[in-house]
Amino acid sequence: MATTGYPGNLNAKTREFISSPRKILLNGHWVDAASGKTFDTLDPATGKVIISVAEGDREDIDRAVKAARAAFEDSPWSRMQPGQREKVMHRLADLMEENADVLAELESIDNGKNVAIARAVDIQLAIDTIRYMAGWPTKIMGSILPLSVPYAPDAKFFGYTLKEPVGVVGQIIPWNFPALMAAWKLGPALATGCTVILKPAEETPLSALYLGELICQAGIPDGVVNIVPGYGHTAGAALSAHPDVDKIAFTGSGEVGKIIVKAAADTMKKVSMELGGKSPAIILPDADLDIAIPGAASAIFFNQGQTCCAGSRLFVPDSLYDQVVDGLAAATATMKIGVGLNPENMINPLVSQIQFDRVMGYIDSGRREGAEVVAGGGRSGNEGYFVEPTLLCNTNREMKVVREEIFGPVLCVQRYSDVSDIASFANDTVYGLGASIWTRDVGNIINIIPKIKAGTVWVNCHNILDVVMPFGGYKQSGFGRELGKESLDLYLETKSVCIMA
Ligand code: NAP
Ligand code: MG
Repeated sequence: MATTGYPGNLNAKTREFISSPRKILLNGHWVDAASGKTFDTLDPATGKVIISVAEGDREDIDRAVKAARAAFEDSPWSRMQPGQREKVMHRLADLMEENADVLAELESIDNGKNVAIARAVDIQLAIDTIRYMAGWPTKIMGSILPLSVPYAPDAKFFGYTLKEPVGVVGQIIPWNFPALMAAWKLGPALATGCTVILKPAEETPLSALYLGELICQAGIPDGVVNIVPGYGHTAGAALSAHPDVDKIAFTGSGEVGKIIVKAAADTMKKVSMELGGKSPAIILPDADLDIAIPGAASAIFFNQGQTCCAGSRLFVPDSLYDQVVDGLAAATATMKIGVGLNPENMINPLVSQIQFDRVMGYIDSGRREGAEVVAGGGRSGNEGYFVEPTLLCNTNREMKVVREEIFGPVLCVQRYSDVSDIASFANDTVYGLGASIWTRDVGNIINIIPKIKAGTVWVNCHNILDVVMPFGGYKQSGFGRELGKESLDLYLETKSVCIMA
């Protein structure tokens, strides 16, 4: 029985949802894969099967694209009065709020993460995203153009722009914040009147599928949102290459991002990419260490380091080095490691055996290259994919652990002596997603921020996200911005209209 082993206080709706195989959401109906195939989604705390899920592939993607195309051209969604679309989106946000505990439990079971944090951060931000985006349909507008056509000086023209939905959108999301990534993608697509085929990560399909139930209940017309769980190299690849998809939005690894950009190029789809990072956290000599030390710990260990903007490279001045390293080691010693359904456990399992092996491989590589393992460095327990919070100290720019995204609870600490070098140290990476600066000096803030090549710079905090704040990357961290007003641009076309009076 799938639910065996879960505590008795698990929400009845969660229990029910994981008590029978889950299906594909196609044109408003839950259906099996055309091939009849299924795959299992596992609980990372135990490695055991939670439930099986329909395994969508090329044919299912093709059906979903047809449904989304028909819904875009024929259903009321894109032509619905903006105020009406706003109401429906608010209804979805209300349903998410009512079911927030269920979504948080599904997230915890499927991804491994802390259930209380999932409720307060992942699910709350997902609800906020849909609510914020619900406010946009009534505010999306073009502009009046003051034309003065030089070769028709005597004619009168009236020019304006219309903002129109891009059309059918494929959205491919990762496993680290499954419900939140679904909301970041669906929110602006729905607000602009697009229709969607969403492919959740194979490791964590459950919360997106539950969201699918709520989307149906909210009254979003059939075919507007189709959810096709399945593997990336099959379902994901079919979606990115499909000739009738107008745009692909992707969050995940750079390697897969490059494959998708190439696949999308053949039909010149619009593409937006939110990829990885190797974000610097910079402690300046005047920092308040009572804030900076716990802040730097949370910058990397939040979500077991499986955060694209995790502060994975910490820069510490010589003068503070020992104090900061001791403080971080003490902080890791207090972090309880265990299953995410117990909210006291602050370090939870990594998402999969593959990620576990990857992260352990990086820790070994750091050791071999001469990093000093000051805390952690090993597995915790003997079932599930738990890795201890790990501090690799005296690291340098040549090391693989400093150059590559580890995506686990592993912090690389580097020392520096001259503040004037710090921006170039921080930028010494192919990525440019986030960065944080820890200082009490406004002069430092003003001088350093313009030199940092990153989509978000935090001061005296890290990993703070808000629906109004655009999020995305410089360099190989991607292109396009999610959240905020800018996210709408990814889903809108501009049509210029010129009328001769
Ligand atoms: P990934 O392979 O990039 O997966 C992200 C999404 O892309 C998943 O839905 C995946 O499907 C899909 N996908 C995989 N291959 C595809 C293809 N050929 N065409 C279309 N879609 C495809 O990420 P991962 O393997 O899960 O993680 C590997 C590394 O990526 C991590 O260690 C981390 O460094 C990075 N990562 C970054 C983020 C981020 O937020 N920036 C998130 C997750 C991972 P399936 O997985 O379902 O097959
Ligand atoms: Mg799972």
